[in-house]
Amino acid sequence: MPFIQINNSSLPYYVRRSHRAKRLHMLFKEDAFEVVAPPRIKNSEILQFIRQYKKWMLKQLTHRQCKSPKSAYWPLHFLAGETLRFKDKSILLNVKFAKHKGTILEANGLKITVPWQKVTQEGLSDYVKQQVVAWYKEEAMIAVMRAIQTYGPVMGRSPLAVQIKKQKTRWGSCGMDKININWLLMLAPEAVLDYVVVHELCHLFHRNHGVRFWAKVEKFFPHYKQAEAWLSQHGQALYLT
Ligand SMILES: [Zn+2]
Repeated sequence: MPFIQINNSSLPYYVRRSHRAKRLHMLFKEDAFEVVAPPRIKNSEILQFIRQYKKWMLKQLTHRQCKSPKSAYWPLHFLAGETLRFKDKSILLNVKFAKHKGTILEANGLKITVPWQKVTQEGLSDYVKQQVVAWYKEEAMIAVMRAIQTYGPVMGRSPLAVQIKKQKTRWGSCGMDKININWLLMLAPEAVLDYVVVHELCHLFHRNHGVRFWAKVEKFFPHYKQAEAWLSQHGQALYLT
């Protein structure tokens, strides 16, 4: 699918020829702009038309994002120009078509490269979402390993295994010498993820939430109450449906 570059966003569009169309017009569909063209209009005219509509396209996109009830944490469509939440900051989602797939965090946002020969227009939104989620999980593993390297030696205990998963009702859990961390914490401030890691490391010593457990949490993470408060206030909104 072709796309048009507007500021940092690349907006996908497609052209539909229609015998019933009297003139060129444009519709904002689920995951792309549809340009409806009468049969005999030249491609160059269509391109010029799209260029004239740049501002309108950007406005539609912004408007849709504002209407979205979940826009604070997740984009509605996973399309170019929408924003993502990452480590408590907003980052722009860029979508480009190319031969090979790729995900890279750049100065102006997260760039998802979509292989044009494999992804259809209908599948674009789902594809981008999948790639975004995969990237969050990788980043979560990096962040959790870093936190373990920071706190583990000080606390005198490190897990033998770490798993990153989405848990419906928990931010982390602890098995025998193993901790599980919810990747949705990548949306939260970094200190919140650190706290959850420390919390689970403390469970390697105390498998309950007793007084000795909390004393240990406080010893190694004195501001844990702030992190707990952040999670109870924002935690539910991080969930992606
Ligand atoms: Zn616990």
